[in-house]
Amino acid sequence: MGKRDYYEILEVSKNASKEEIKKSYRKKAIKYHPDKNPDDKTAEQKFKEAAEAYEVLSNDDKRARYDRFGHAGMGGAAGGQGFGGFTDIEDIFSQFGDIFGGHFGGFGGRGQSRRRVNKGSNLRVKIKLNLAEIANGVEKKMKVSKYVTCEVCKGDGAEGSSGYSTCSTCHGSGQVTRISNTFLGQMQTTSSCPACGGEGKIISKKCTSCHGEGIVKGEEVIKINIPAGVAEGMQLSVSGKGNAARRGGINGDLLVLISEEKHPELLRDGSDLIYSLFISIPDASLGTNVEIPTVDNPVKIKIDAGTQPGKILRLRGKGLPEVNGYGNGDLLVNINVWIPKNLTKEEKRILEKLNESESFEPKPSSYDKNFFERMRSYFD
Ligand SMILES: [Zn+2]
Ligand SMILES: [Zn+2]
Repeated sequence: MGKRDYYEILEVSKNASKEEIKKSYRKKAIKYHPDKNPDDKTAEQKFKEAAEAYEVLSNDDKRARYDRFGHAGMGGAAGGQGFGGFTDIEDIFSQFGDIFGGHFGGFGGRGQSRRRVNKGSNLRVKIKLNLAEIANGVEKKMKVSKYVTCEVCKGDGAEGSSGYSTCSTCHGSGQVTRISNTFLGQMQTTSSCPACGGEGKIISKKCTSCHGEGIVKGEEVIKINIPAGVAEGMQLSVSGKGNAARRGGINGDLLVLISEEKHPELLRDGSDLIYSLFISIPDASLGTNVEIPTVDNPVKIKIDAGTQPGKILRLRGKGLPEVNGYGNGDLLVNINVWIPKNLTKEEKRILEKLNESESFEPKPSSYDKNFFERMRSYFD
């Protein structure tokens, strides 16, 4: 994705405290704030970047997820949608209201830089994936019921262009200016007009289709790219695919909760898979070849003559990929020997005969000294 490391952006170490992170972010925010760097795209970019990094690193959950999975864990891998963009910055700035006089109005593109931006609410959906989809990654299409922009008024909420009148508080400019004292010295802060919310105009005649809200109930088919290696309980965010905002704001995000379908034969343990294999007494004694299910196609493995129950075979790389893209887990085959429960007379006779044979005497000393090693390798 070419995204920069959040720690690098804030110039803090991986084990920086919350206080250090906050301090460093504060410094960057002041340095690159749009009020101090008008029309400087690079500064704006750096400002957004720092805000994004701060949003993640200041939140324990998000930080832990980022440490573990990198940008992929933040939803960045879900089709490159990444973060919610500058609307999140507004939320962060409400915490730093004291620095900027409490009138940080949010900033959009040029020409509307002081307009307050509405944000639509986030939507949550659950998505069920089978093991093959998790192993390979998958693109899912989902029909989602949500608020969409009203087609009639294009989200304005007004009945045509005649549905507006000029705001009397700001006389149409959408802004009010005031001087305030901050620790940076005297700052002139311009903020959205409270009367019209920065629009400069007020709706005098509401759109009849959406009753002036600019949004209506509808549905959308949304494509969701799921990266390989996700697990039950993980959440991906697809930015801008949540509910549309009232009156032409920014869409909320779609939060996708991963739910994992149980595989009938394979048990998941992180990126490893576990398979419980049963073989017969003769097969364990004589050796055999058996087919083992994997996420994709079954594979043949060789069981050596004299294989004991409890032995674990490790098929390297046959597990699931790590979600951060570093390698694959293994498939562990736990070997059990099937002991029959109901025997015919003939079978009993043969077993009794075998039982007299020297080879059928248990001799655990040579085998069981590896018991702890085997258990350890199992819990690895
Ligand atoms: Zn409308
Ligand atoms: Zn106004």
